[in-house]
Amino acid sequence: PIRVRFAPSPTGMFHVGGARSALFNWVMAVQSGGTLVLRIEDTDASRNSPEWTEGIIQALAWLGMNGEQYEGPYFQSANAARHAEAVQTLKNKGRAYYCDCTREAVIARTGDQHRGYDGFCRDRGLDAGPGRALRFRTPDEGQTTVVDLLRGKPVFDNAVLEDFVIARADGSVTFLIANAVDDISQGITHVVRGEEHLSNAPKQQLLWEALGAEPPVWAHVPVIVNEKRQKLSKRRDKVALEDYRAEGYLAEAMRNYLMLLGWAPSGDREIVPWDVIVDEFRIEDVNTSPAFFDEKKLRAFNGDYIRALPPEKFIAECLPFLQNAPFDVDVAVFAELAPLAQTRVAVLSEIVPMVDFVFLDEPPTDEKSWTKAMKDPAADILAAVETAYQEIPWTAAALKDRLEQIGTEHGLKLGKAQAPVRVAVTGRTVGLPLFESLEILGRDRTLTRIAAARG
Ligand code: GLU
Repeated sequence: PIRVRFAPSPTGMFHVGGARSALFNWVMAVQSGGTLVLRIEDTDASRNSPEWTEGIIQALAWLGMNGEQYEGPYFQSANAARHAEAVQTLKNKGRAYYCDCTREAVIARTGDQHRGYDGFCRDRGLDAGPGRALRFRTPDEGQTTVVDLLRGKPVFDNAVLEDFVIARADGSVTFLIANAVDDISQGITHVVRGEEHLSNAPKQQLLWEALGAEPPVWAHVPVIVNEKRQKLSKRRDKVALEDYRAEGYLAEAMRNYLMLLGWAPSGDREIVPWDVIVDEFRIEDVNTSPAFFDEKKLRAFNGDYIRALPPEKFIAECLPFLQNAPFDVDVAVFAELAPLAQTRVAVLSEIVPMVDFVFLDEPPTDEKSWTKAMKDPAADILAAVETAYQEIPWTAAALKDRLEQIGTEHGLKLGKAQAPVRVAVTGRTVGLPLFESLEILGRDRTLTRIAAARG
């Protein structure tokens, strides 16, 4: 069985790109009866925070990663003894050497900012000492071929792979070796991660081999871009999974959408049950071209998922949003409104402005809506409605018929005639179907609001 891992560095809010990589790994583990290991790469103490770590753990649980096939979290920092041991092994085997070159000195020699290390200290036989880093000695000849499930077998000439640092002058180990040592000690068989790490793969594969391990199979998944084809970034784009969650995206919609960043199920389908994804996903089928993160499409997806919820589930999902709103929710009353709202929200947080008028003592007043709706003959309509609604049966159908008549008497279609009533009662020009809302709000409260609007 395969063992895959997700190995984030907890240096910020958990990113949708990270979530996509984690999901690809998770699906591979689930479909093969294997294991996904969560490893927190927390060795850069200056940039880590327990809060970010907690965010990652929560987010993965939210997306459904749990159970027997989920292992961890492990912390890279806890594996420090193994890292040190591996560094020592490479040193003892003559695969690493000390180097005291500064970056400036290297550039002065090579005359090229972009070229890597020139091997100056390879055969100087320096001992450990202040200001001396330890470099891995890459082979002078031959090639390193990595098996990448998305990219065939990229071949790298060893001669162009620079001798890279594995331990800094202060003794701390670098990402390249810590990551490889952890993967080896955790028995990882497949390394599935972002494309930005592709150039690290041959270096890491050389480390695996030098440490006597059988290299993994690799898969470097494509970058995610925004509508301008720019790499998604936390400064420019909305990338924090937590923000989507807080806005009322459902985990099911989110994970379905994230799986489509580089992959698609069979047929013309995009919205598919998780079982189908687990059944059909093949990492080999993931596209290598950049994947467009389309927020509008995600929103539409979420709306579809919301509409498909069983009514009680929809109510339960809305409650946390309503309980955070500045009014007291009567759950029984909300349950009556919920079916009207379920088809109309794309993200759950939209429920609040849709139903607030029922729970507030007075409707919210939106200046713009008010000016727009209260034009002639709004006053006459409201006066007529106030009288007409005293007596009639309090059903949506009857309320609608009566308002339709009043409209006709004023030469207005229903849509126009109902606008002042809607604003008087709900405070807004758009919202839930009006007559059903009035039925739920009740005669007294409706009439009080109409009277108040008439001034
Ligand atoms: N900590 C690295 C990162 O977040 C892990 C890279 C890898 O998956 O190997 O980019």
